[in-house]
Amino acid sequence: MGAVETTTLQDWISRFGAAIAEKREWLTELDSAIGDADHGANMARGMTAVSEKLGAGAPTGIDDLLKTVGMTLVSSVGGASGPLYGTFFLRMGMSAGAVASLDGPALAAALRAGLEGIVARGKPEARDKTMFDAMAPAVDALDETLASGASVAEGARAAADAAAAGRDATLPLVARKGRASYLGERSAGHLDPGAASTAILFETLADAIA
Ligand code: ADP
Ligand code: MG
Ligand code: MG
Repeated sequence: MGAVETTTLQDWISRFGAAIAEKREWLTELDSAIGDADHGANMARGMTAVSEKLGAGAPTGIDDLLKTVGMTLVSSVGGASGPLYGTFFLRMGMSAGAVASLDGPALAAALRAGLEGIVARGKPEARDKTMFDAMAPAVDALDETLASGASVAEGARAAADAAAAGRDATLPLVARKGRASYLGERSAGHLDPGAASTAILFETLADAIA
């Protein structure tokens, strides 16, 4: 009861790819305000490559699935988001290991390992106006919800809500990392594109687990 199977995570990746394709223009619009207008294109290119890779054969386990996703993103996305999301999935896979299912605490630990990979790679801190500002609250919310005795589905829903709130909270921030930081004060008043794609990542995880 409550375990997340390899097929559930495959469904997550496919939902994430579909949602990115659907929100591609919006993500690019967000990036055109404070970056170089390619976040939608970068993520869509990466997730199309992931879908092609995964279509070539069934993964042997959760680490294999997530490693394929991570390596494909690193090699197919030129922008900052490729290595960051790539590292997220690679670290998540290493934490999960060669298993066919994860219980709630193991899923939470794997997501936290992914977050720590992003921190190791990009050195984001809270309120730097990056994907970290959506992801860190999401991972915290999953831990807290599971600790209260809720199901993994309820935890994933709480994580998605926290990611969306974190995305929205980037609006007034002045960027301190990435291209948006070149704008200084002029970066305030816009949502961070990477925080927006991370909110989609957790929304689709909640949908896949529900
Ligand atoms: P690029 O900036 O190279 O064009 P993208 O537009 O695809 O790459 O991705 C930009 C997003 O990457 C930002 O909105 C931000 O969320 C994230 N980002 C950039 N630099 C960092 C960093 N050092 N740490 C964490 N996230 C970062
Ligand atoms: Mg960009
Ligand atoms: Mg770019």
